Amino acid sequence: MNSKDSKTNDKLEKIVSLAKRRGFVYQSSEIYGGFAGVYDFGPMGVELERNLKEQWWRKMVYEREDIVGLDSAIFMDPKIWEVSGHTKGFSDPLVECKECHKRFRADKILEEIGVSADEKMSEEEINKIFEENRGKIKCPECGKQNFTKVKKFNLLVKSNLGDFTSDNSEPVYLRGETCQGIYVNFKNIIDSMHLKLPFGIAQIGKAFRNEISPRQFLFRGREFEQMEMQYFMRPEDEMKEYEKLREYRWRALLELGISKENLRWKRHENLVFYAKEAYDIEYSFPWGFDELEGVHARGDYDLTQHSKGCGKQLDYYDQEKNERFIPHIIESSGGVGRLFFAIMLEAYTEDEMSGDKRVFMKFKPEIAPVKAAVFPLLKNKPELVAKAREVYEMIKKEIQPVVFDDNGNIGKRYRRQDEIGTPYCVTVDFDTLEDNTVTLRDRDTGEQERVKIKELISRLKI
Ligand code: ATP
Repeated sequence: MNSKDSKTNDKLEKIVSLAKRRGFVYQSSEIYGGFAGVYDFGPMGVELERNLKEQWWRKMVYEREDIVGLDSAIFMDPKIWEVSGHTKGFSDPLVECKECHKRFRADKILEEIGVSADEKMSEEEINKIFEENRGKIKCPECGKQNFTKVKKFNLLVKSNLGDFTSDNSEPVYLRGETCQGIYVNFKNIIDSMHLKLPFGIAQIGKAFRNEISPRQFLFRGREFEQMEMQYFMRPEDEMKEYEKLREYRWRALLELGISKENLRWKRHENLVFYAKEAYDIEYSFPWGFDELEGVHARGDYDLTQHSKGCGKQLDYYDQEKNERFIPHIIESSGGVGRLFFAIMLEAYTEDEMSGDKRVFMKFKPEIAPVKAAVFPLLKNKPELVAKAREVYEMIKKEIQPVVFDDNGNIGKRYRRQDEIGTPYCVTVDFDTLEDNTVTLRDRDTGEQERVKIKELISRLKI
């Protein structure tokens, strides 16, 4: 293993281990040996995840007069996936090692030896590149060099919903992306909300993909959540709005606490035929820069396809100009899990405090899973415990979630809160009983100060 690989694994392992130890993320069905590509969010993870989705919703819906929300269903008419091109084109290039029978994405193993490839290439194109480089490619699992040819593998996950005959001739899919639910509700939303162009529709929801090699923790799962916003406008406004959206999304990520140095833009070199422009925002994951979210200009492809598919014109009538046309679409599309992972990596900090090594998660207070923790200095002094409970109840009415902890010594409680990224710890001690002040400890500096109980709420509020 070279030093880059060991550094990669080191950071990845630290995050995966902390995520499990502190109740952020567990492997699905772990007690049965684990279910590949699916994860469960634990008590801390669900808080962080909800906060990230809430921040996204605030940015993409509440702060915008021109964007509305939607929650469309996971199951849809199977024809939608045919019309959108997914039943034919939504596929990844698969190769299998003939020795150990592990399967891999051909584009990813080509990238690993420095050869540029893309999952959107045709089977012929990628096979040609694969054959040219076959001699250089080793199986990432067993190290042998005996691969099959590359075959395209469809990512849509089938279900048998509504099929009582078991022949499953027309499978219903679990949606492979959330945006199709937006496109097919375009007409409903125009008719019920009377929106004027330009406007957007935002949605957060689950998506499912039969990923060939789910890996790298939350980065590539088979069940995951997407946060997508589709923005509709006049054709001539597409590129102007596109630049605005790119800027908007970039700033939104910085506001969540991601540092500029860990982000970069990547332009798609192999654009699909209908796309006007496509950039991804990449994050510096432990293995290198990789896609965090996409900002794409899609032209009129989606609404045109669905107009043809359903036989109804999904167009827009501009009253002022007395004109009908199919709006163009730009989209912002990101995964909750990838953002969660990036935020965990970004927050993970090691330092030394009072001569001891410590790990703390430097989340921005807005997204921290727990906002404050309250401790009685000693567990076995009923008067301290009672006062601490009183303070805890008082804070809880105004700020959530807050935790009460009297387990172990104070040092251990601080470490526990540091590892889940709680910005403040409040300790009730004997002085509190005399003067109604508490110790307020700051997560990042470890500094402590005496604060009057009646001033606590304003100090803790974000
Ligand atoms: P990749 O090239 O990494 O497979 P993609 O280009 O297929 O991703 P999109 O279809 O554009 O991804 O999906 C939009 C976003 O959804 C991605 O930017 C990513 O954040 C998230 N996403 C896509 N696939 C997965 C997955 N398997 N697991 C977790 N998140 C995903």
